[in-house]
Amino acid sequence: MAATKFVLAFAICRLMATVGFTTVAPVDLLRLGIEGRVSMERSDVKKASADFGKLTREEPVAVMEPGSAEDVARLVAAAYESAQGFTVSARGHGHSINGQAQARKGVVIEMSSRKREVRVWKKGRYVDVWGGELWIEVLTATLEYGLAPKSWTDYLYLSVGGTLSNAGISGQTFNQGPQISNVYELDVVTGKGELLTCSEERNTELFHAVLGGLGQFGIIMRARIALEPAPHRVRWIRVLYSNFSAFTEDQEFLISLHGRPAKERFDYVEGFVIVDEGLINNWRSSFFSPSNPVKIESLKSDEGVLYCLEITKNYHQDNADTIDQEIEGMLEKLDFIPKTVFTTDLTYVEFLDRVHTAEVKMRSKGLWEVPHPWLNLFVPRSRVADFDKGVFKGILGNKTSGPILIYPMNKNKWDQRSSAVTPEEEVFYVVAFLRSAVDSQALHILRDQNRQILSFCHDASIKVKQYLPHYTTQEEWRDHFGDKWDRFSHLKMQYDPRRILASGQRIFKPLTTTSSASDM
Ligand code: FAD
Repeated sequence: MAATKFVLAFAICRLMATVGFTTVAPVDLLRLGIEGRVSMERSDVKKASADFGKLTREEPVAVMEPGSAEDVARLVAAAYESAQGFTVSARGHGHSINGQAQARKGVVIEMSSRKREVRVWKKGRYVDVWGGELWIEVLTATLEYGLAPKSWTDYLYLSVGGTLSNAGISGQTFNQGPQISNVYELDVVTGKGELLTCSEERNTELFHAVLGGLGQFGIIMRARIALEPAPHRVRWIRVLYSNFSAFTEDQEFLISLHGRPAKERFDYVEGFVIVDEGLINNWRSSFFSPSNPVKIESLKSDEGVLYCLEITKNYHQDNADTIDQEIEGMLEKLDFIPKTVFTTDLTYVEFLDRVHTAEVKMRSKGLWEVPHPWLNLFVPRSRVADFDKGVFKGILGNKTSGPILIYPMNKNKWDQRSSAVTPEEEVFYVVAFLRSAVDSQALHILRDQNRQILSFCHDASIKVKQYLPHYTTQEEWRDHFGDKWDRFSHLKMQYDPRRILASGQRIFKPLTTTSSASDM
């Protein structure tokens, strides 16, 4: 290995001198001695310049499909050591909204191009996975051992590295913490091209910085993820509210049961807002079927908004007999509209993979590959009623163009040493506007509404934090990170001093000659 590295380094120096500092030189260098593939083909470049949001497009010079973690280390080392420099962005499954995985005039690493490197350690109850692995693959592999990760996202066609760079949240977060709280160890390629293992015990600072670090400190090559015995089946329940404070009081009560024995709590707590009857069966999941019709109009409050609490209870064959009783006992403590209990029973995989089922339907209607001007906010608990009044009952009107999720989480499940940012209060709500724009007029309206929502929060001093954040100035980023900014920028200097990595986040301006003001 040492000899190979020496030969490569020698070749890089020779080639640098021969080809000069043209934009493509680094890419030519990378064709030497890597296991994977480097491509400048139009179709590869085009794919790497797009994402789920369809709002922005930046073309890289080349795309790498890595064959190993060492390939990635060589690429980043070449970028770090070359005189002109070039940016490098890992791309998980390209499910960002605002170009976060793009690399203008740089190289995009297609992490998910290398599939199925999942190693389950049954004894230790953890799994080692390649950073580009999709969560659906992790689930499939671990289920073979009767195990599954503890913390999820609603959608499983996201990469491990992509969600760990943000947080990875869903209805299990109140009890298990976000996905970043369920990782034991990482292998990371830093912005200097070093391949380092980090954990609570080794390179601790890097470990915490990378989790929720928006790809700024290193590329996650391997993650060691906590597992638990996989439940067999899930009882999935929805109940409706017309009163916002009854809805949030019940949600907060349910998340306060975190850490209790499974019998005494639900396993998943989410919820959504219904301002538009057409969306009761939204793309996240069709649920209310003709056999259990919901007469929304008869339920709606004067203010025209309903709230749906969504909860689940996992069970195994051995407690199947008592599950109904357990659920009934818990539902009795809630204050929803009587006779609005809708229940479905399905396998654990069917439940976890529910959004994909909806995706297949949306795709068949041509409604998936459209722009998604999504906005995800963390709203402090003390101001969520003001948010309801000003946004759900104000700015939105009665058309939403997509699901709006709302559910609370508790800060004590988030490790404050990670780079993820949450509001200061102990309980905060995620409010996710997951809207699709079918044409340019709709896109204009939805983007304008997003701006109005942010201005409303600013003017009303509701101290929201963006989840999957998107800002264009460093001042906004400083504000976003608050107390964490100094550490964040200090660690950036330490682990990625040339600001090579994940420039699509637009936090730091790359120190490369191929970058320009528009890279920020
Ligand atoms: P990409 O979009 O490819 O990358 C995101 C960022 O991470 C980029 O900056 C990229 O450079 C960086 N990155 C990617 N891979 C690595 C790596 N290996 N190492 C270091 N940095 C890396 N999020 C939730 O938390 N909960 C949800 O329930 C949820 N549901 C979603 C449903 C849908 C339909 C969609 C489109 C998104 C959803 N998300 C959810 C958001 C999702 O977590 C983000 O889009 C996230 O970025 C993961 O997507 P990705 O793997 O495609 O990453």
